[in-house]
Amino acid sequence: MSRERLYLFDTTLRDGAQTQGVDFSVEDKRQIALALDSLGLDYIEGGWPGANPTDTAFFSERPPLSHAKFVAFGMTKRSGRSAANDPGLASVLDAKADANCLVGKTWDFHVDVALEIPRSENIDNIADSIAAVRAKGREPLFDAEHFFDGYKANAAYALDCLKAAKDSGARWLVLCDTNGGTMPEDVYRIVSDVKAKWPDAALGIHAHNDTEQAVAVSLAAVRGGARQIQGTLNGLGERCGNANLCALLPNLLLKEPYALQFETGVSSAQLRDLTHVSRLLDEILNRAPNRHAAYVGPSAFAHKGGLHSSAVLKDPKTYEHVPPDAVGNARRILVSDQAGKSNLMSRLSEAGIDVAANDPRIARLLEDVKQREFLGYAYDGAEASFELLARRALGQVRDYFDVESFRVMVERRHDAKGDFATVSEAVVKVKVGGKTYHNVGTGNGPVNALDDALRKDLGEYSAFLGDLRLVDYKVRILTSGTEAVTRVMVESADAKGNRWSTVGVSPNIVDASFEALTDSICYKLFRDGA
Ligand SMILES: [Zn+2]
Repeated sequence: MSRERLYLFDTTLRDGAQTQGVDFSVEDKRQIALALDSLGLDYIEGGWPGANPTDTAFFSERPPLSHAKFVAFGMTKRSGRSAANDPGLASVLDAKADANCLVGKTWDFHVDVALEIPRSENIDNIADSIAAVRAKGREPLFDAEHFFDGYKANAAYALDCLKAAKDSGARWLVLCDTNGGTMPEDVYRIVSDVKAKWPDAALGIHAHNDTEQAVAVSLAAVRGGARQIQGTLNGLGERCGNANLCALLPNLLLKEPYALQFETGVSSAQLRDLTHVSRLLDEILNRAPNRHAAYVGPSAFAHKGGLHSSAVLKDPKTYEHVPPDAVGNARRILVSDQAGKSNLMSRLSEAGIDVAANDPRIARLLEDVKQREFLGYAYDGAEASFELLARRALGQVRDYFDVESFRVMVERRHDAKGDFATVSEAVVKVKVGGKTYHNVGTGNGPVNALDDALRKDLGEYSAFLGDLRLVDYKVRILTSGTEAVTRVMVESADAKGNRWSTVGVSPNIVDASFEALTDSICYKLFRDGA
């Protein structure tokens, strides 16, 4: 049976970036875009070029996506200017993107009150802007803002706005529940109406979660005829968030009638990466994962002792609606080690490490990983540290160097010009192949100085470290109070474009940083065959 294709559009980097407390760097955006691409999404909206410096910078160098279309978001042109003369639209059109998604008004109330322009002029603005995207050779998408509220207030006008976009060549008409208040039944009815009117129109849905129903609203729109769904990872988005892709994807792939009726660009194998991508976003945002998130939360398949867990051990279907590994999550049962072991085996195979499950070293590694996770290590965002830990347990990584001691000093003093300046100096005593080196380094902070000192001279290995650079550094305090534990995540890169992340944990922030730094260096030496 041939299934109809559903298209998935991610707006984490645009709508999700509007979340309170979320502030993506260019590097964060790049990392998230690549993860979304590997997950198999069809469209990745990078942001709004021209609206803020981060988005402009992000679009100046497009991320190396393997198949997803890279989308620049913007607004339809302003009144009183031609599409060619609108600076806002120009930065969207000039951005290095495959498609442009332009938002425009479709609710008469908004045209009257917010834009204060004649309603016909709004329609002209939509038509001209979409035509400009088309003329530029990009795929045009039209985000019909407040479409459902507009349709309820004045269906004829809302449809006229949509028709203007359609007639000007919009590839997709995305119906937005911008205020997030529309009920699934109404969304189903309205999408069905539009589809009945224009059977050939390609409709999309963009739902906000203000009634905790954005996922249900999106599915209702699909039943009504929408074939593109917009959403965000972990449901990120302003106010109560957007439709959560981490729930939508498994619902579409694992639940009927959707699984039989539709196919998406996400394969079953890619779906098994979902939990990892969800946790990666949390790591980037420096947030603890939502324990109770559907499908991907750490508690989504956790069974407490007693009746439930003994029944689950006999047959998981007794208390699980889907197998946890379908979304890359793991069953957690306090009385059993099995779940941990299969999880570990799948992490090892992801890292390209081939080892038999009954190898006695695996049991010891599992104990070690559990103990370390208890202490605060998180390997979901630090694959390089995990790989090193595993390969060391299997005797596949040699000890390149041995740090015998380090010392770091921070000094705030007047510089030559009489201004206050803070400088750090570090001394690292390191043994490489029987020879001891005393390295001294300086930097603008203790971690910078330690990094400088450690890498200053590593004997035969120095040649491998010339192109190593640190691209990101994140600190999280794991407990409160005086004995707080610090977790440091370091992201590194080399001249070949490789990137890897490492982790360190200690009650002392410098110590935790140093651990993450040494892991980063060891990983590079291992990978480059030093
Ligand atoms: Zn939105």
